[in-house]
Order: sequence, then structure tokens, then C-alpha cells
Amino acid sequence: MKIRHIFFDLDNTLWDHRKNAYLTLENLFERKNIQKKYHLEFKVFHQVFYDINEVLWAKIREGEIDKDYLRKHRFYDSFLHFGIDDWELSEYFESQFLDEIIVYNHLLEGCVELLDYLQSKNFSLHIISNGFQDVTHRKVEKSGISKYFQTITSADELNIRKPKSEIFQLALDKANANKSESLMVGDDWIADVEGAIAFGLDVVFFEVLQENNPTKGVKTITQLSGLKNIIVELN
Ligand SMILES: [Mg+2]
Repeated sequence: MKIRHIFFDLDNTLWDHRKNAYLTLENLFERKNIQKKYHLEFKVFHQVFYDINEVLWAKIREGEIDKDYLRKHRFYDSFLHFGIDDWELSEYFESQFLDEIIVYNHLLEGCVELLDYLQSKNFSLHIISNGFQDVTHRKVEKSGISKYFQTITSADELNIRKPKSEIFQLALDKANANKSESLMVGDDWIADVEGAIAFGLDVVFFEVLQENNPTKGVKTITQLSGLKNIIVELN
């Protein structure tokens, strides 16, 4: 059976969350005058925030914490790392972060070209995101890529996140797609790749950071443009 449906992860697969988050936080950091007030450089703060945020998202995937915990703690814990014990400041960063990040809408390199190509070949395109539902929809709208997608599935709809099978099933149901004619593309080894494999879905790993993940036997691309060749081979 030929591939007819392609399911994309959104953050850091199509929408450049890393870059957009960096620019948003840099702006908040300057507005709150953090560098001067606490003699803390943005780059140093950002690295700590990045690591803490990654750990908290991993805990959400494992079901150890919920997203309210993450939203309460990711900035508080990051500032506390530098001895800044300030709930109010953390709450300001959290609420502004999600509101302001969609001001920036950098997409991954080659994103629009790829989507144009896939649309011209009549593939049915979809998104499966672990992000917050309203934020996911705003990102897709504001970055101008909503016209390419037939369905968007957010983990919030079920309160179940990738890599759990239920979210893949919901996405396929919404798309009216069979596993055998579907392909998943994502940048997260556990959520996207292991999740898709466990569900029984063919998958392409977008190895953006090239962190030497154990990609043996899994189709891997390092740039979005690489997906064209894989699609041609599959079909
Ligand atoms: Mg991602």
C-alpha cells in the first residue's frame, strides 16, 4: 500500500520552537532588566532553562507530573538555580512566554518548500502535537501553514501524549487513515519515533540536533528536504 497520509510533529519538526522560544525569552529578559539586576547573562540563563524544561517535559511524558506543574516550575526552578527566589517573576515569564512566543514564527529550513511539494503530490497532511491545544492552533495559523493540513491533533484533546498509542489512533481516526498508508515524521526519539513504532506506524526520524541517537534501522533525515527522497522510495 502506498503512503497517502503524512503525520507531522509540530514543534522543532516544522515550527522552529527552539529559535522562537529563544527570541521570546531574550525579549522578556531584557524587559525585566534581569541581566543588570542580577548580573545574569541571558545565554547562561537560557541554557539552564532549556535543560530544566526538557527534564520537565520528559516527566510529563512519563506521567510523573502534569502540565500545571511544568508551568508553575520551569521558570521558578530556572531562576532559583541562580539564587533568584521569585514566584511573581516566574509567573510573569510563564504567562508572557506562551502569549508572546507566537509573535515569532520561524519555521524549520525547507518547511514551506516541503509542504508545497507534498501538497502538489496530493498527500493528505496532518499534525500530531504534544503541545498545548490553543497554542498549537495559533502557531499553525500565524506561521501561515494551516492551509496545508487536513487535521490537527493535540494531546490536550485526550490528555494523553505521544508516545502513547491512543493519540496516534485518534489522529488516524480524525484523518480517516489506515496505518499501512500512513507515515509519521518527528524530531523526538521517544515521543515520535518509539511512539509510532509501538503503535505500528512507519516513521521518519528528523534528527535536527544530531545527538547520535540510536537510529539503527529507522529512516532518518537531517534536513526536511530529505523527506522527498524517502517518500519517492516508499511509493
Ligand atoms: Mg517536536
